[in-house]
Amino acid sequence: MFKLCNKSLVSHLCRISNFTENYKFCLATFKLPINRRFKHDQKVKPNVPEKELPDHRKIGREQELFFFHEMSPGSCFFQPYGAHIYNTLVNFIRSEYRKRGYQEVISPNIYNTKLWETSGHWSHYSENIFSIDIENDKYALKPMNCPGHCLIFDHRIRSWRELPLRLADFGVLHRNELSGVLTGLTRVRRFQQDDAHIFCTPEQLKSEISDCLNFVEYVYSTFGFTFELCLSTRPEKYIGEPELWDSAEKALEESLVQLNKPWQLNPGDGAFYGPKIDITIKDAIGRPHQCATIQLDFQLPIRFNLLYDSDSGEKKRPVMIHRAILGSVERCIAVLTESFAGKWPFWLSPRQAMVIPVRSTCDEYAKEMKEKLFNAGFMVEVDLDSHNTLNKKIRNAQFQQFNFILVVGEKEKSSGTVNVRTRDNVVHGQYSVDDLIQMFNELKNKFVKNE
Ligand SMILES: [Zn+2]
Repeated sequence: MFKLCNKSLVSHLCRISNFTENYKFCLATFKLPINRRFKHDQKVKPNVPEKELPDHRKIGREQELFFFHEMSPGSCFFQPYGAHIYNTLVNFIRSEYRKRGYQEVISPNIYNTKLWETSGHWSHYSENIFSIDIENDKYALKPMNCPGHCLIFDHRIRSWRELPLRLADFGVLHRNELSGVLTGLTRVRRFQQDDAHIFCTPEQLKSEISDCLNFVEYVYSTFGFTFELCLSTRPEKYIGEPELWDSAEKALEESLVQLNKPWQLNPGDGAFYGPKIDITIKDAIGRPHQCATIQLDFQLPIRFNLLYDSDSGEKKRPVMIHRAILGSVERCIAVLTESFAGKWPFWLSPRQAMVIPVRSTCDEYAKEMKEKLFNAGFMVEVDLDSHNTLNKKIRNAQFQQFNFILVVGEKEKSSGTVNVRTRDNVVHGQYSVDDLIQMFNELKNKFVKNE
């Protein structure tokens, strides 16, 4: 279950994200676009020839999901279909937060640069931070949520009873990238993360890390992705007590063993402020991507002087865990778009069903069916264009990747049913609208991958 990294993909990844010692967790993941990161690794070849690889920018255009405009380089416009995917992903994570003891917060976008001086970001990353002058003071757009969450923790006296405190934030982040290097959704200036920071005691680390790993496994298996894990440990230059490092690394290792999946060790490749676990996913066509990271941080609690009252009455310093599973929602959508090649599973699909009347005498019935499904919460449309033949309409709907095509003629109208076919052109026959709603709910609630 355990082997040493031998200059493999994972060690390559770990080194890339370790290209600078300072705050690599929060910034480095955005330094290189997906394709560049893996370009040098000959072992990693997608299962599909290069020229046939789906491109999220092309699919995004064809399906009217998103676009970019020269008026705001690197900031994506999500059209209604794309916004549906975006919000479905966010809500999927949000519903898990409720079950897993996370609390969502909403924090400011603009902070006085003094905050970034305290956190240490200003001296190393000011070129990546958009700043603005307001009333003779310098402010900046947040490139990450962590310092804001430290202010929330520090807002009042904290007790050991409140720990672990798990603060989640989908806040909008901005990082300045040169306009020439912006490429689709993989390298952007504006993005959101499924970001969370866990403040806990050193004793709670093991169970918190285990919970994070289980969360990662749940989300990625829902997408149909497999993943690889790599533990990076204490580098030569580090801050904090060596005993804290030892016990934290032991906790991370035990959590990995407990997960019962293969993992690799990258000794000495942790950040100077804490060890971490990198998670590399393999998408549906075998390509690797790094989205999730679990990073321990011994430094920010020191810089912000975070303390809690322990059960023995002394002031103690919490440990902070940075963790994201989707990573940037934008980049995750790029990965999912290409991985599914635009054939969205029903639960994520912005085009779940198209109702097609056989002739105009069935138009009213078709509209009625569309309303029923729409009111039941589904992404459904009706094709009333009288210029196209039935076959042409079915082909159009298939091309647009509607998961279901519901044909209605006189027979369906008189029996109160719809004739169901899937986008792979398999005809499933007549269904009552109630049975169809039941089936749709099942596909949605169980995150079924293929109808
Ligand atoms: Zn963070």
